[in-house]
Amino acid sequence: AGQEKILTDRTAGSARLRAEARESLAGGVASAWQDSPPVAVWIEDGHAAHVRDVDGTDYVDLHGGFGVGLAGHAHPAIVAAVTGRVRHGTHFAQPTRDLIPVTRLLAERFGLPQWRFTNSGTEATMDAVHLMRAATGRKKILKVEGSYHGHHDSVQVSGYARVAEDIGPDDRPRSVAYGPAYPTEITDLTLVVPFGDLAAVERVLAEHPGEIAGMIIEPVMMNIGLIVPPDGYHAELKALLHRHGAHLAYDEVKTGFAIAPGGATELFGTTPDIVCLAKAMGGGIPCGAVGATRALMDRIADHTYEQVGTFNGNPMMLAATRAMLTEVLTEDAYRGFDALRSRMTGGVEAALRRYGLPGYVAAHGAKGSVIFTERLRNFRDFLAYDDRWGHLHWLYQHNGGVFLPPWGKTEQWTLSVQHTAEDAERFVLNFERFAAAVH
Ligand code: PLP
Repeated sequence: AGQEKILTDRTAGSARLRAEARESLAGGVASAWQDSPPVAVWIEDGHAAHVRDVDGTDYVDLHGGFGVGLAGHAHPAIVAAVTGRVRHGTHFAQPTRDLIPVTRLLAERFGLPQWRFTNSGTEATMDAVHLMRAATGRKKILKVEGSYHGHHDSVQVSGYARVAEDIGPDDRPRSVAYGPAYPTEITDLTLVVPFGDLAAVERVLAEHPGEIAGMIIEPVMMNIGLIVPPDGYHAELKALLHRHGAHLAYDEVKTGFAIAPGGATELFGTTPDIVCLAKAMGGGIPCGAVGATRALMDRIADHTYEQVGTFNGNPMMLAATRAMLTEVLTEDAYRGFDALRSRMTGGVEAALRRYGLPGYVAAHGAKGSVIFTERLRNFRDFLAYDDRWGHLHWLYQHNGGVFLPPWGKTEQWTLSVQHTAEDAERFVLNFERFAAAVH
């Protein structure tokens, strides 16, 4: 309560704006996930690795706009790319030259030969699902329990935002729609399995012979903390799906670019049939992309699946993405992420041990999360542990000048190329204060 009071006292301007906004803006926020308790902090501006709120408070930004912020704010290369483009027109709904270098760069990083663009992660995963259906003529898909892939009908099942009373047994989760917006006639076509459990995938495939178009998966789960799968999981998963004529689609909306230059595809050495990208790719400009094998992309090229959108491949996003891939996300950038992540992980784990708190840090590349339980393998482990630690940690960081993503235990930090050793130290210091206060 004390930490919440400190926060609400220093965010009076945010509260005033929210109250004013409620008149014309549903709920006084622009998206459901901005509606975070105890307060939605309104931002005035961002520079390098910092943001400043409307009350004038400066924070080290580890929120990173839910994983977008690998460039940090107002990165000179992004500013130059976007302002350079604005002067020459920003929208034609016709192809422009940057399409070629950008798709080649994506092909190099993710090992898939052909790409299309979208404007968000939701659209990218929607295209992946549509493409798997169009290519196989099958209706059902597989999804991991607890994962979030955006807000289209086929994937809005069995996530954390709405946990139903009857979610089924641990090894046979029930597919639960996210509420009345999503008809069960559609969501029942999405079958759910626990993360990391190949036997469950095999059983569902056997129970629905010839019916499953493919599986969409976050290769490292990132909307329930951060969970790395068991060794060899992805290679076996791909082989298993292929044996049943089904496809494997990676949702790399969060992992892509962040955990390695070529995302989880590079990290685990298994190239899936489809990769979905968004978030960090566009350096802060709305973006998304879907890449796939030539055989699958032929179904787009021949219009079997009409992959379409007024803003697809918009020049502003392409200019920013090109700058990201050539000037921002260099080899040095990944070395920088590794150095800062090691310091943050080491500092937090030392404090956890010193104060006898449960938990560990799960981290890769620019991403990391403090997991306040001894074992987190899947959604059921996640549901079983207390969110109060995560929320209190968030408050201590916030009041100590570090902006982590809200929502307690669900989210991860995102480092940018503009964070410094000093920023990492501030995070560790806040963690030590938190641990000393709660142990
Ligand atoms: N997939 C994953 C793994 C995500 O974390 C998100 C958003 O948080 C999405 C898809 C949806 O992306 P967007 O919010 O750009 O629609």
